[in-house]
Amino acid sequence: MIPVNQPLLDGNEKKYLNECIDTGWISSEGPFIKQFEETFAARVNRKYGIAVCNGSAALDIAVAALRLGPGDEVILPSFTIISCAAAIVRMGATPVVIDSDPVTWNMDVSLLEKKITPKTKAIMPVHIYGLPVNMEPLMKLAKKHGLKIIEDAAEMHGQTFKGLPCGSFGDISAFSFYPNKHITTGEGGMLVTDDEELAERCRSLRNLCFQPKRRFVHEELGWNMRMTNLQAALGIAQLERLSLFVEKKRKMGKFYTELLKNVEGIELPLSKTEYSENIYWVYGLVIKDSVRFDAQEAMAKLSEKGIGTRPFFWPMHEQPVFHKMQLFLNEKYPVAERLARRGFYIPSGLALTEDQMQEVVQAVKDIFAR
Ligand SMILES: *Cc1c(COP(=O)(O)O)cnc(C)c1O
Repeated sequence: MIPVNQPLLDGNEKKYLNECIDTGWISSEGPFIKQFEETFAARVNRKYGIAVCNGSAALDIAVAALRLGPGDEVILPSFTIISCAAAIVRMGATPVVIDSDPVTWNMDVSLLEKKITPKTKAIMPVHIYGLPVNMEPLMKLAKKHGLKIIEDAAEMHGQTFKGLPCGSFGDISAFSFYPNKHITTGEGGMLVTDDEELAERCRSLRNLCFQPKRRFVHEELGWNMRMTNLQAALGIAQLERLSLFVEKKRKMGKFYTELLKNVEGIELPLSKTEYSENIYWVYGLVIKDSVRFDAQEAMAKLSEKGIGTRPFFWPMHEQPVFHKMQLFLNEKYPVAERLARRGFYIPSGLALTEDQMQEVVQAVKDIFAR
């Protein structure tokens, strides 16, 4: 079986992990945490980094840190991971979703303004699968209407929008270090911001809102969402090779595109837009409407041939859990719905070899052959 993702851990990972074990620093008190936060934040031109236990937790903290709550609306794409909408809902705020662009798969920024109401407090752009959201018009709208930006850059390590790093656009921006991201800490996440007060609030929320003076007296509820020194050790080793990883992913993306471009029945990821070059977090395929089978069936066929795949996101407006909360009832977003039904991704991990990619391509060609 060719797995859909396998990370590359052949740099200084072992060395730094051994340091944790040799020195006994394995909790969130260890010295690698601060080093990772500082190096990572600098990498995306931000003043502060706050390391957390995963990317979903980063979003939870971001929404809480901005004090969004009941009566507040936050606009985000329907086509994203549950973590984004969950963070909003858990704080009692209302998620408002918009459809995506059929070609970049990112939120269609031209649909944003229509959704802005007097209750709108923030926008949560989510960069999808390797290409960023069109941030320029989004930033303009946010400024015009006084809205905060929570940027979900979980899939965008090393990516830029018009030359500026993804993760440098939000009032607060979130990253994930899950093993399928460009750099991994096993589980892990990071918030970055330039706002000192917001950074301090994030640190407090991540650490149960313990107070510096009277530790066990709490003014507010936080969470234990701390990252461990072991995770940060991995993170530092991975970060050393981020540019290399991005280069490798781009090469892999180009390789797949070259070999798949003449296959009938599938749409391939865009290699670039006017503002960014794809970093292929994952290599997605969308099955054309003329093909009789959908993504689910294609994935089953590929699985029989030993190829691991994953479906695209299932839209937020079609989630049973949100319908039970009376959210998004009878809302329709045709692009997101189509991507969910006809989209899936093929093996795209950093440890994938060219031979494996050839094998994947052959299997894809076989199932789409007439
Ligand atoms: C991976 C991911 C997350 C969640 O990160 P975890 O570390 O898995 O919790 C959030 N948003 C997006 C867009 C992601 O791809």
